[in-house]
Amino acid sequence: MNRRRTNGAQLLMTAALLFALSTFAFAEAEAEKPSGVQVVAAENTYGDLVQQIAGIHAHVLSIISDPNVDPHEYEANVDNARQIADADIIIENGSGYDTWLDKLMATTQNSKRILITAFDVAPTHLKENEHVWYNPDNVIAISQKILEALKAKDPSDAAEFDSNFAALKTEIEKLDARLADLKARYAGTPIGLTETIFLYQSELIGLNVLTPWTFDKAIAEGNDPSAADAITAEQQITSRHTKILVYNVQTITPITTKLQDEAKVLSIPVVPVSETMPPGLHYQSWMSKQFDVLASALEQVSK
Ligand SMILES: [Zn+2]
Repeated sequence: MNRRRTNGAQLLMTAALLFALSTFAFAEAEAEKPSGVQVVAAENTYGDLVQQIAGIHAHVLSIISDPNVDPHEYEANVDNARQIADADIIIENGSGYDTWLDKLMATTQNSKRILITAFDVAPTHLKENEHVWYNPDNVIAISQKILEALKAKDPSDAAEFDSNFAALKTEIEKLDARLADLKARYAGTPIGLTETIFLYQSELIGLNVLTPWTFDKAIAEGNDPSAADAITAEQQITSRHTKILVYNVQTITPITTKLQDEAKVLSIPVVPVSETMPPGLHYQSWMSKQFDVLASALEQVSK
């Protein structure tokens, strides 16, 4: 099952978007806009960072914000074309995570907008792993870039942006301290993963990931893992070598569901993680809540 295969319907959709965009871009220029710097974020995680730094001085629209939808599978619609047409700042993840946005941008004429590609700004990259926001230091670097873009677009509020950025950075550094604390207590614990997203944090905590990397990579890409990898991942759970299963709740296939079910039957703790920030949280509170669940699972299995 390759869920990314381009088909005729998708090509038609792209053509329809291109046409709609040329019409909407013009109409939007005449329409009344909310005040402040106009920001469009491909994902709400980045939209949240912008809003925390900008305060009331930006109007932020996050296109992907539903934690029940797989962002790897997102396809742009006509609304999105209109939304990005005259943004001052656009922030995307990049590295193939949101190519739908690149395609829309390629069709619009706006020489004044600033594009931030988070993956390119992030200092730490794992092999073929676009989930850079799972590394707090990456998020500080991305936030620094957001700060610079906001100052460029609204210099008169620079002092406030600086102060908001400093507060955010302090909060994110607490996540680093939390990861270091988990490492000191639980490094080496054998765990299973259903997708590559958690590798950024499992590495920082020093957890021993048993699942074949090629298995997690196939799931992230919407492909079927090899039969051998699927058997290995399953046996690691049924033999109880895997002490905790970290389960990506947004990138689900029948195989990942099966692994989760088997873990539950054997009372192996399942720790849910998501790609998209759940509603009502900020980046730092989202990560902190996930760490709480992970910490209690680690404590349980290390007794
Ligand atoms: Zn993913």
